[in-house]
Amino acid sequence: MPDTNPHTNIPGTTGKKGYVYIAGAGPGDPELLTMKADRVLREADIILYDDLVSPDLVEKYPAEKIYTGKRKDSHHFEQEEINEEIVRHAKRGLTVVRLKGGDPFIFGRGGEEIDTLRRHGIGYEIIPGITAAHGASAYTEIPLTMRKVSSSVAFCTGHPVSKIQVPDTDTIVYYMVASSVHDVLDAVAAKGRGGETKVAVVQNATRYNQQTFTGTLDEFRNRERAVYSPALLIIGDNIGHFIENSWYSRKKKVLMTGGDSGYYSGTEYIIVNFPCRRIAGADLEAVRSCIEGIDGFSMLFFQNRSSVKYFFKYLFEHGRDVRHLSHMTICTSGRAAASELLTYGIIPDCCLESEASAGLGLSGMLRKEGLSQQHILLPCSGNVDESLASELREAGNMVTPLGVYVHDAQRQEDAIDLDFIDEIYFSSPACVRNFRSLYSSIPGRIAVTPADDRTAEEVRKQFGV
Ligand code: SAH
Repeated sequence: MPDTNPHTNIPGTTGKKGYVYIAGAGPGDPELLTMKADRVLREADIILYDDLVSPDLVEKYPAEKIYTGKRKDSHHFEQEEINEEIVRHAKRGLTVVRLKGGDPFIFGRGGEEIDTLRRHGIGYEIIPGITAAHGASAYTEIPLTMRKVSSSVAFCTGHPVSKIQVPDTDTIVYYMVASSVHDVLDAVAAKGRGGETKVAVVQNATRYNQQTFTGTLDEFRNRERAVYSPALLIIGDNIGHFIENSWYSRKKKVLMTGGDSGYYSGTEYIIVNFPCRRIAGADLEAVRSCIEGIDGFSMLFFQNRSSVKYFFKYLFEHGRDVRHLSHMTICTSGRAAASELLTYGIIPDCCLESEASAGLGLSGMLRKEGLSQQHILLPCSGNVDESLASELREAGNMVTPLGVYVHDAQRQEDAIDLDFIDEIYFSSPACVRNFRSLYSSIPGRIAVTPADDRTAEEVRKQFGV
């Protein structure tokens, strides 16, 4: 089995030649990443990513990630330092992906980075991304060109104020306007565009919290409204009036805590991932001893997707595969874990959630399935949830919980703005508790969907709903 984490193989230098991909990540929606960027991110040893790239997007790749943006708790990189960092890793023989918001060559300083790579004789290629203007255009239903209305478009910057340009194109899209909207609008008016010219501000384009404000040039110039970064200002008569209710804004935004449940397929939803399961390491000694002693267990019980994923990661790392589990009964407490198991070629002997409606409770269900007198290995979170283990014991089993991952403390900046959320899906009691560490209540208009009875109970306990 190949090591799935190339980072663990990184020595000081590798002897092979380093290579750099300068790639665009798109404007926000992770599905707007190109297939090529996805491939190189999977192959990368190091990913250097910017402010505009969501940590959610890079999290799933095994590479070492270096954040080069301006978050409060991390080192702020100047461009010169980023260039040096790229060169340093490439010279160690590593595959480096420099991942930028949008497209690397639209206000992305990609040009400066390739200058440095050329100077050092380092091999590179450039992978385009969907720039913010294209993302905003599609997700707000503002066509950038339109027959008979707009036959030209320009991308400009609102920063620095002294360099604001107003080209004669029908449509103008201004980047970097959060602090200079009024300066830009004044410049546009000074260039002779009429007070009735249509204007739109698009904040957080293609993200769950996308917001669009529209009006005329005069209206915008006379109104004080804070604009929050990242935002674009679009000017031109291609801005229609149906955009307040664009296809994207009509979708239901579902906040998903923990793994994807698979419940929300179809065209109606947007899944917003709440990084509830920020995963840290496991107790490797305990993992080793359980895997080496796997023959002594008669049953494997998986509570959720992560427990499956991390159990198999360690199984493979210890040089074993599914054949070493053939003597065991394999059970899951939910459909999400069952579908994760399928990816490893395993159909569980039983999936208890489907029987939850019978009102038997877990121990009752286990008895009904004849699952007692078992020696159960229970891969789970290291922040142990004792209730499941004790229910399994109540049904007459011996249970060994094995922490294969640990939930890290939740960070404030991961908080999702609930104003934009229509529904919350809780995948486990641990996710409910984790969510509770950031939010003291859930607004009444938000629908709450717990994955199973135990999760529903935790929601009642923590939030009284
Ligand atoms: N290379 C990027 C632009 C980087 S400059 C691209 O091609 O999109 C940073 C500016 O991009 C921000 O100030 C903002 O004006 C714009 N921007 C990036 N992402 C955006 C988003 N999701 N919504 C609105 N504007 C965005």
